[in-house]
Amino acid sequence: MSKGTEGEAAGTAKQRVVVLGGGTAGWMTAAALVQHLPHACSVRLVESAEIGIVGVGEATLPHIRAFVEELGLDEAEFMSATHATFKLGIEFRDFGRIGDRYLHPFGSFGTEMNGVPFHHYWLRMREQGRGGDLFDYSIANRMAAANRFAPPSTDTNSMLSTYSYAYQFDATLFAPYLRDHAVARGAIRTEGKVIDVELDAESGDVVAIRLDDGERITGDLFVDCSGFRGLLIGQAPGTAGVDWSRWLPCDRAVAMPTVSPPGPIEPYTRATAMAAGWRWRIPLQHRVGNGYVYSSAHIADDAAADALVAAVEGEPMAEPRLLRFRAGRRKRSWVGNVVSIGLASGFLEPLESTSIYLAQGAITQMIALFPAGGRIADEDRDEFNRMVDLEYDRIRDFLILHYHATTRDDSSFWNHVRTMSVPDSLQEKMELFRAAGRISKYTQGLFLEPSWLAVYIGQGIVPGGWDQRADAMDPAGLASALDRLRGKVAAAVADMPDHEAFILRRNAAIEASS
Ligand SMILES: Cc1cc2nc3c(=O)[nH]c(=O)nc-3n(C[C@H](O)[C@H](O)[C@H](O)COP(=O)(O)OP(=O)(O)OC[C@H]3O[C@@H](n4cnc5c(N)ncnc54)[C@H](O)[C@@H]3O)c2cc1C
Repeated sequence: MSKGTEGEAAGTAKQRVVVLGGGTAGWMTAAALVQHLPHACSVRLVESAEIGIVGVGEATLPHIRAFVEELGLDEAEFMSATHATFKLGIEFRDFGRIGDRYLHPFGSFGTEMNGVPFHHYWLRMREQGRGGDLFDYSIANRMAAANRFAPPSTDTNSMLSTYSYAYQFDATLFAPYLRDHAVARGAIRTEGKVIDVELDAESGDVVAIRLDDGERITGDLFVDCSGFRGLLIGQAPGTAGVDWSRWLPCDRAVAMPTVSPPGPIEPYTRATAMAAGWRWRIPLQHRVGNGYVYSSAHIADDAAADALVAAVEGEPMAEPRLLRFRAGRRKRSWVGNVVSIGLASGFLEPLESTSIYLAQGAITQMIALFPAGGRIADEDRDEFNRMVDLEYDRIRDFLILHYHATTRDDSSFWNHVRTMSVPDSLQEKMELFRAAGRISKYTQGLFLEPSWLAVYIGQGIVPGGWDQRADAMDPAGLASALDRLRGKVAAAVADMPDHEAFILRRNAAIEASS
């Protein structure tokens, strides 16, 4: 890699980072780079209004809060600018069985006792017809059901610290919001369409990109955020996609916003199973985002659009918009001097709102492994690729579980996903849980124990046993402890403000102070 010419820091030339793409991934990357490495790099972002952005990623995971905080953004102001609402989890309807409903909450169930996860005690009580509904031990679940919201407590001894939250925002406003922030801190924005990529004949590194107006932009490190096109990463050998469509057959979506219906703004995303996939419903402050994610092998585009229009509640604000994709990831996301982030690196359908999280994780890794002095070490690249692969592989298994753990046999799609063979890694996890409620643990990446528990139980996988240590407690004492716990959860939630009222109060405070 050549040395940059702009700026000098501690005797090392700044690296010239060129970000291709101004969607959510591109502007998240640019904003993070100017925030964390202003001394180490200059950032130039190229985007094309003619091509546009995907702009339907509206539901996020709690990790995004750290990203927002690290950029120094004011949460209330950011939420107001992107018409955001709070998200306490995802409600799944009709997945395990038609008529079923459960929330995958951001937070834990009950409290660990004597070092044993709570659900083992619950399983023991359940066997005796006691203990109630597992989901009543989740604060986030009860909050969502009651449309309440209050930020979690920072006191880790408090029950009110056992849940978390994310945001649901207008994706078409998020990238421009970050753009203003990044540009104000030194990122350079160039409008133009890339029509050619110049490679070094020997190393295969990208030397420059050429725009339709003839401008040639050189750089040291290129971040490919060009979306599904993968314009730069696609030039590198050995980066073709790993295809997971045999397990995740949904390959299209129709999206359509609607006017908010009268009634409360729910602090959660809803996923409702449909004949050939599922439908999202994401309530924002000013409208509702909807979309039908489906398998084109099981339903035609027109029929999917009709099914979406028939299912939504409010007045449509636009025609249904078609999007195509395929489940999978690049074999390698960082090759030579090109790092791919966002849709250019891969895509897993939005059933658990993981795409922006994956972009955030890749940005964090890239910044942590940012090449010092311009030399990209093979080990650093390998570490980046290892981490990205790990994240994708784990999320893949979790998503497949939502389809496979079902008794539905009412359509060719559900018959297919119910009877398909699943990856060994998922099969092993399911068997482990079925035997005695054990959930394989890992310290890095999505998803943790409570998430797996929610989907297993929510979709009807009930273990045949439990951790034997849970038998050490006297049953009558355990039953009353569980009753008390459920009562405490309900009482804590009853004291919380209404979600919409909380947002309106904060908006009013912003207006009053501006
Ligand atoms: C149906 C659907 C629903 C989704 N829902 C969610 C969700 O709920 N939660 C979530 O986290 N994620 C979701 N996602 C994913 C989310 O939308 C993306 O991860 C996010 O928008 C990032 O996209 P991106 O920036 O990688 O690509 P894009 O938004 O496609 O941006 C690509 C950028 O590259 C530029 N570009 C491309 N080619 C050129 C060129 N030749 N010259 C110059 N510029 C170029 C474009 O102009 C654009 O600025 C969803 C995706 C889909 C398809």
